[in-house]
Amino acid sequence: MTYDVAIVGSGFSAIALTLNFLRFLPPTASIAVIGDDPGFGRGTAYRTEFYLHRLNVPAARMSVFPGEPEDFVDWLRRRGKPVFAEDFASRGDYGLYLRDTLAAHLKPRASRANVDFIRAKATACIANSETGEAQGLTFHLDNGSVLSARTVVLALGVGTASLPVPQEKIAASLGAQTVVNPWRLGWLSRVERDDEICVFGSGLTMIDQVLSLKAQGHRGRVHVLSRRGLVPHPHPRRRPPAIAPQLPESRQISALLHALRAQAEAAEDWRSVFDGLRPQTQALWQSLDGEQRSRFLRHAMPWWSVHRHRVAPDVHERFQQLLDAGVVKVHAGYVQTIDASDSGRAVVRYRERGRQTIATFEADWIVNCTGMERAGIGHSPLLQAMRERAMIATDPLRLGIAVDEHSRVLAPDGSVQPGLYAAGALTAGQFWEITAVPDIRVQAELVARQAADEVERRMPRPARSA
Ligand SMILES: Cc1cc2nc3c(=O)[nH]c(=O)nc-3n(C[C@H](O)[C@H](O)[C@H](O)COP(=O)(O)OP(=O)(O)OC[C@H]3O[C@@H](n4cnc5c(N)ncnc54)[C@H](O)[C@@H]3O)c2cc1C
Repeated sequence: MTYDVAIVGSGFSAIALTLNFLRFLPPTASIAVIGDDPGFGRGTAYRTEFYLHRLNVPAARMSVFPGEPEDFVDWLRRRGKPVFAEDFASRGDYGLYLRDTLAAHLKPRASRANVDFIRAKATACIANSETGEAQGLTFHLDNGSVLSARTVVLALGVGTASLPVPQEKIAASLGAQTVVNPWRLGWLSRVERDDEICVFGSGLTMIDQVLSLKAQGHRGRVHVLSRRGLVPHPHPRRRPPAIAPQLPESRQISALLHALRAQAEAAEDWRSVFDGLRPQTQALWQSLDGEQRSRFLRHAMPWWSVHRHRVAPDVHERFQQLLDAGVVKVHAGYVQTIDASDSGRAVVRYRERGRQTIATFEADWIVNCTGMERAGIGHSPLLQAMRERAMIATDPLRLGIAVDEHSRVLAPDGSVQPGLYAAGALTAGQFWEITAVPDIRVQAELVARQAADEVERRMPRPARSA
């Protein structure tokens, strides 16, 4: 069977796409959703059940449908969990909201397109044109089956970044104490109460993991090490009104940041300027040339991240208490080596930021919280195979894959691949700000609308009666 549409992925992007396709496609159409995640739609972000794993976006901006901003808040209220629009709900509840919303859209069987959810990993892909067919792609799945579709959306997310030190610089005996992907939460249950932990990365993932540890009674010290030692800022308890910043004509990143900084300093609360910039961020990114984008990534990204990706106020308060009590210590520097001590602990050596001195601390665990992989497609055998067949190309900054402004995938020669789209963080090279729900939901709606139009155009027209 050849599906009209295949969505590859099983996180938020895949669920948002599925919901929109159900709205836009006629009942005669067929959709396959191929994903290897046990909870379709929850992905890494919304699978958690820990209450301090909060959304970092207020509830009123987390509706899966951009045109129905109250949808998530209403769902919470119906569930007896009333929140204010500006509250930060739990990510676990958000996962349940996605599951319920999908179930509700799947109910009216007769009046909707057919959807098959296929629990499998897509491992390889060939263009149907290679076997003589006009259009479409065929995927090989790790359950041994093969699936063909005329229109495809890649919604694979991005992988977890690797440790910030090459494998050969880590003592081999530390393998069992090294957690490369902390989202496999099983590691938390193996930690002894007084173990010392070394966390690489000081962003949102680090805060999540530290709070999870402490919630289960961990008492040991946590060393956090990142290049700059910057930690995310909190959202305010009362959100100030957003102020759209006045940007200069210049598209030099230094001039733009200078203007932003000046306006943030003049504002009553700097966050209002950041919030006011948000609706313009994608267009601003697209107006920068390659050199300026790359300057931004090299020099400004860590500052951007901690100001832009903020944490809920009570999560921040809890984390601040741990900092104040000296339970969590943040170091700024560059890891050099991780050796094993005689007692089998990790000895972390790092060059202190701004100095030539080497500092050292010991820990029982090494935990990688450096966040999302920003190296494009390295995490995905499927994407690597597609690149080898010249079906996709990495974007010039290696943030993901090359797509045009309509999220259509581009071949290495820059031409549009017919019937092939991408959504979510994979498209960061084109959109930059495309990792969070408020942005992905807009993209999912646009992609589904365009792709559904294509599907309808391909469908045979009913014969006209004379
Ligand atoms: C811990 C965490 C917290 C976050 N909190 C927020 C928040 O509060 N608010 C917000 O707006 N955003 C948040 N985000 C951002 C988050 O990335 C997006 O909201 C959203 O979850 C991204 O979904 P996605 O589907 O694009 O990617 P993912 O969630 O990564 O999902 C991709 C899925 O595709 C599957 N897949 C990959 N390759 C294949 C293949 N070859 N075959 C089949 N399946 C495959 C993967 O297994 C995965 O399940 C958070 C992210 C994380 C990691």
